[in-house]
Amino acid sequence: MENPSFIAQNLKHIKERIALAALHAGREPEQVTLVAVSKTVPVTAIEYAIHAGQRHFGENRPEEGERKIPLITQTLHDTSATFEKPIWHMIGHIQSRKAPQVLAHFEMVHSIDRVSIAIKLSTLAEQAKRTIPVLLECNVSGEVSKYGFNAAGWERDIAIRQNIFNEIAPVLHLPGLKIKGLMTMAPLSDNTEELRPVFVSLRALRDALEEKFPEMILPHLSMGMSNDFEVAVEEGATLVRIGRAIFGERPL
Ligand SMILES: *Cc1c(COP(=O)(O)O)cnc(C)c1O
Repeated sequence: MENPSFIAQNLKHIKERIALAALHAGREPEQVTLVAVSKTVPVTAIEYAIHAGQRHFGENRPEEGERKIPLITQTLHDTSATFEKPIWHMIGHIQSRKAPQVLAHFEMVHSIDRVSIAIKLSTLAEQAKRTIPVLLECNVSGEVSKYGFNAAGWERDIAIRQNIFNEIAPVLHLPGLKIKGLMTMAPLSDNTEELRPVFVSLRALRDALEEKFPEMILPHLSMGMSNDFEVAVEEGATLVRIGRAIFGERPL
């Protein structure tokens, strides 16, 4: 499993499938960035992916990133070949006390799932005289197990719509954050067509937010994982987060 050609082959295959899905929907393949989700994956396997040309990586736990990212940075620094520096995406729920690790090691945060973590990260970023690009995680499917701003049924229910606008409004102008778009996790399903409405709903929510807050430009939609990324790309994903289809199944 942790074998350079296995990972390189998988990356090549996934990129082909992303390109096909994009073209199928009349989009340019370059509009979609593949984020290789390396949670639980050992550093050596991540390095194989870097050697195969992969640039963007996602981790879902701040402490795991804090452990692995400096090791990888050091190895790349020590090797004679030159590789482009990896770009690290935080894609998982962040406890408030872990916010400093996120700011220290990650370039982008997909998982702003509540107002308090937005404020915390913004404050820390400001103190560090930085701004950090972020996405707002929205729960459009309504699954109770999912994090994110509650947006289930927002198209049909004006109260829910008003509620999510009200919730998001104070986040939009925090000085340490650059809001770049939305992220969602679809429910697990073998029937990916069933998931299409989830992706459509996130895209429509983005459009509605841009209309409601004309000063906001929200180009990014982070949606699609190993099992459902083609449908997500067809519906406008600009970032797909793919783990198992690149690195193999994770240990339970
Ligand atoms: C694990 C994870 C993924 C990737 O899931 P795979 O099924 O391995 O492709 C994507 N997004 C988030 C938030 C994750 O935690």
